Amino acid sequence: MNIVLLGAPGAGKGTQAARLVSEEGLCHISTGDILRAAVKNETELGKKAKEYMDAGELVPDELIIDLMRERIQQPDTEKGVILDGFPRTTTQAVALDGMLNELGRPLDVAILIDVDPEVIVKRLSSRRMCRACGAIGTEADGASCKACGGEMYQRDDDNEKTVRNRLEVYEKSTSPLIDYYRGCELLVSIDGDRDPDEVYADVKAAL
Ligand code: ADP
Ligand code: ZN
Repeated sequence: MNIVLLGAPGAGKGTQAARLVSEEGLCHISTGDILRAAVKNETELGKKAKEYMDAGELVPDELIIDLMRERIQQPDTEKGVILDGFPRTTTQAVALDGMLNELGRPLDVAILIDVDPEVIVKRLSSRRMCRACGAIGTEADGASCKACGGEMYQRDDDNEKTVRNRLEVYEKSTSPLIDYYRGCELLVSIDGDRDPDEVYADVKAAL
């Protein structure tokens, strides 16, 4: 099973992906997580990506496509992948089709988690993330991670100004993928403005 999760930043892709990983044993690939790790470790990729990320802009397609081409060939992807945060442009989507075709593992479904932009701005300004394990929580959860006890922090790009820019970038560059996947008859759209358990029930039904 190869799944693309589509949706605006903060729509809940990471939360749903985490459940799919623990319940379906799929391999989760989040380009955002890979890039944040690269920035933290000050790799060549991280140095190139940081400015774009801090501004809420997209990292250039060539960098992302090279990164994914390498990642998708790792042995842990054989049972299936959940792609979270990739593709984000039509160029990336076309490149992904090429990579999956080469591997003989076509995409099964593109799930859109649909949430109103104003709901997103509120969600992201109270979102927190665990420095140690990457778990996602909210301001209300307090200072330590429920899963591992690590420190919860606010991502640099989760401030209101950057969030608004990320939403604009999403509208302009990423939302055309909704029609792209609809055209391939792979799109399933789910109302993401509900309790995560209800959203997950629909995600499972889409598989
Ligand atoms: P969110 O979905 O909450 O916006 P992500 O963690 O997926 O956040 O991504 C954070 C940032 O990393 C993006 O704003 C962008 O700068 C960069 N990024 C992640 N994935 C991609 C991608 N596929 N193409 C270009 N840039 C990306
Ligand atoms: Zn943690």
